[in-house]
Amino acid sequence: MTNDRPSSSAVPGPPSASSPPGGPYASATPSHFIADIIAADLDAGRHDRVVTRFPPEPNGYPHIGHAKSICLNFALAERFGGRCHLRFDDTNPDRESMEYVEAMKRDIAWLGFDWGEHLYFASDYYEWLYDCAVALIDQGLAYVDSLDEETMRAYRGTITEAGRPSPHRNRSVAENRSLFSRMRAGEFNEGEHVLRAKIDMAAANMKLRDPVLYRIKRARHYRRGDDWVIYPLYDFTHCLSDAREQITHSLCTLEFENNRAIYDWILEHLELPPYESGTRPHQYEFARLALSHTLMSKRKLLELVEQGLVEGWDDPRMPTLAGLRRRGYTPAAIRAFADMIGVAKNNSVVDLGKLEYCIREDLNPRAPRIMCVLDPLPLIVENFPADAPPQMFDAPLFPPDVGRPGSRPVTFARELLIERSDFMRDPPRTFHRLAPGAEVRLRYAYIVTCTGFDEDEHGEVVAVRCRFDPDTAGGRAPRRVRGTIHWVARDHAVDVEVRCYDRLFAVAQPREASEVNPDSLRVVTGKLEGHGPTLTETHLQFERQGYFVRDPDATAARLVFNRTVSLKDSWAKRAVTAGTTSSSGEAGSEEAGARPRDTLPRDAATPASSPTVTSRPTPSPAAEALRAAHLVDGAPVIAIEDAERLVAHPHLASLFAEAVAAAPSRSEALARWTVNEVAAATKGDPPTRGGLTGAALATLVAMVADGRLSVAAAKSVLDALVRDGGDPEAIVAAQGLERIGDEAIATSVVEVVTQHPDEVARYRAGEKKLLGFLLGRVMRATGGRADAGTARRALLKALDDEQPSF
Ligand code: ATP
Ligand code: MG
Repeated sequence: MTNDRPSSSAVPGPPSASSPPGGPYASATPSHFIADIIAADLDAGRHDRVVTRFPPEPNGYPHIGHAKSICLNFALAERFGGRCHLRFDDTNPDRESMEYVEAMKRDIAWLGFDWGEHLYFASDYYEWLYDCAVALIDQGLAYVDSLDEETMRAYRGTITEAGRPSPHRNRSVAENRSLFSRMRAGEFNEGEHVLRAKIDMAAANMKLRDPVLYRIKRARHYRRGDDWVIYPLYDFTHCLSDAREQITHSLCTLEFENNRAIYDWILEHLELPPYESGTRPHQYEFARLALSHTLMSKRKLLELVEQGLVEGWDDPRMPTLAGLRRRGYTPAAIRAFADMIGVAKNNSVVDLGKLEYCIREDLNPRAPRIMCVLDPLPLIVENFPADAPPQMFDAPLFPPDVGRPGSRPVTFARELLIERSDFMRDPPRTFHRLAPGAEVRLRYAYIVTCTGFDEDEHGEVVAVRCRFDPDTAGGRAPRRVRGTIHWVARDHAVDVEVRCYDRLFAVAQPREASEVNPDSLRVVTGKLEGHGPTLTETHLQFERQGYFVRDPDATAARLVFNRTVSLKDSWAKRAVTAGTTSSSGEAGSEEAGARPRDTLPRDAATPASSPTVTSRPTPSPAAEALRAAHLVDGAPVIAIEDAERLVAHPHLASLFAEAVAAAPSRSEALARWTVNEVAAATKGDPPTRGGLTGAALATLVAMVADGRLSVAAAKSVLDALVRDGGDPEAIVAAQGLERIGDEAIATSVVEVVTQHPDEVARYRAGEKKLLGFLLGRVMRATGGRADAGTARRALLKALDDEQPSF
């Protein structure tokens, strides 16, 4: 029995109870169906208080999905004057640890919630739970079964066929009692026996076909040590813990909907402590949060960490609360996000843009403005005398609409630095920044006219030249210019390390950790306005760029900033490919004398009011037909979302058809690559030239499937194919992209183990999380060309070899 939790699958729920009750609690806002249920319970006197709980399993760091549930449970308790417990649901000794308990406590407190004295552990209830199980046995309602796992599964039947009773189902109470106590005493091996509830092997709800309540597991528990060799399962533990703690409303995600019947059955068949609030607890289900461009399952997040694909649980690209905090997200923004997405009863994918919207809204009024050039290009002001002293301007720390006082001195001199992307030697008509002959405003200083540029022997622009207009000082604008750009004075700027983070996954709905966006981190040395280092705020806005937060890696000598979010949703435009959001206009185009203020795409996917959640649409007949055309054993192998997108984009559909003709067994992978990667690489436009062919795509996908090419490498080959066409095999050979073999991996492992004696010793002493660090080094040593799984196994072997673990 390894699966003690229901696997998540979308269970469509009944329509929510939305009719507002009429009692004193009825007007509580913001309202949703659970708040309505609670208000109605209080008004009708079914409960005289509200007690909720947040019940995490300590097997990973909490993520933004947990935050939804934390906010819901704690906010409901707050709103109705009740309390919310924090209970660790720690009944699976395999993957749980105190590190995760501490992370959870820290992050809930950080979000601003307080469980007071109500901190509980299901593992403290083991003795009592055991007694409850014996009480069921005594009533003839539970029995020890001795079928092996596979046979037990076969006996359960199917949705259309009733199950069969196990030959052990009619063991006597005495025999069950004796076997169960011998299970506890450690007389049997794992898998030899389980304890099952005796409910109904023919129940339409398959969960009720005698669910397993206890299993034998010989594993050390992080709190109970070796006290126990039998562990209760979720379905048994959860309802009883709720009852014991006098919970009134037990809120969980939709995949537990069918488990509710077990919850009710157990509470109804045991004599439990009296319910102080009047009535026993009831379970209600709400939709799990899924966020685009990221993964949320703790198992997959652990993979990202362990395979060194990110720097750790608090990597700023992670959807964990620790990662979001380091990225610069604030508790206020996360709580606002939880309110915005609401609580509903249908599963959906929320666009990451909504979360980004919330952090922009929170930081706009409190992040002081400063200019920082991330990719510097010298700008020489020719008519500013070389020997003249620099000139000072006074620039506001906040734009007028924020209404906060404060200013900073900005130094103007002959030699400035501007953003490389703000100059074009040969611009299109829509480019409103610097170009030969063009005029632009240097924010807070002068209007300048570009007089030329210098280039090196490769034709690369190394400096831009201009003249300033002395009549336009400090934002006075006798005439209209179309662009305003940021800048710093070369000799008055300071170096800062800037970590430009982007979405962890470029595709909207990634499935595997290995699909990470290789461009999700770019580290640059930026040039920050001289006044920058005197600011003490944690969050700053780099004008025209985005919001940035100080990273704990900073030292007195070196400032380090992480990009929290850019000012504009640059992804809204790209997402058009997927047909989800609208565009936000040309990045960087600005009005004359533009005030430094956020240019939020209010027309994009993230409206301030009436937030909507992108629900999964009902499949169109055409998509269903396309999906049905790709059947294996009667089951469609391509996802309905993929089918929808193919139907919506005929050029993708024809490429897909061509590719499947070349590799019929790979339709699933090909569909996924076509709608995600090809769509991104072609920016949604039909490939015009004979570039990418279906056959080439099929070859490429096969190379990935066969483990010869990493996903990241395959994406760069795909870009080349879209651009120039050609043969994937030849491109891979020419660029040396093929994955390296086991021997080369082993060499890198040895190298890394030798170079990091300290980390290796600490790992061996028990600091297991260093595995991620070491693996990251191995991946780096192989130039990212090792298969992460193989590298991990080789590393684990090397780490264990010299000192066998006991
Ligand atoms: P994972 O699949 O990430 O391991 P889980 O549900 O197993 O998630 P738990 O630690 O058991 O994780 O979850 C604790 C609580 O948080 C549960 O009540 C669960 O329903 C809720 N929760 C977990 N993930 C989400 C999510 N994505 N959206 C909303 N609630 C969530
Ligand atoms: Mg879990």
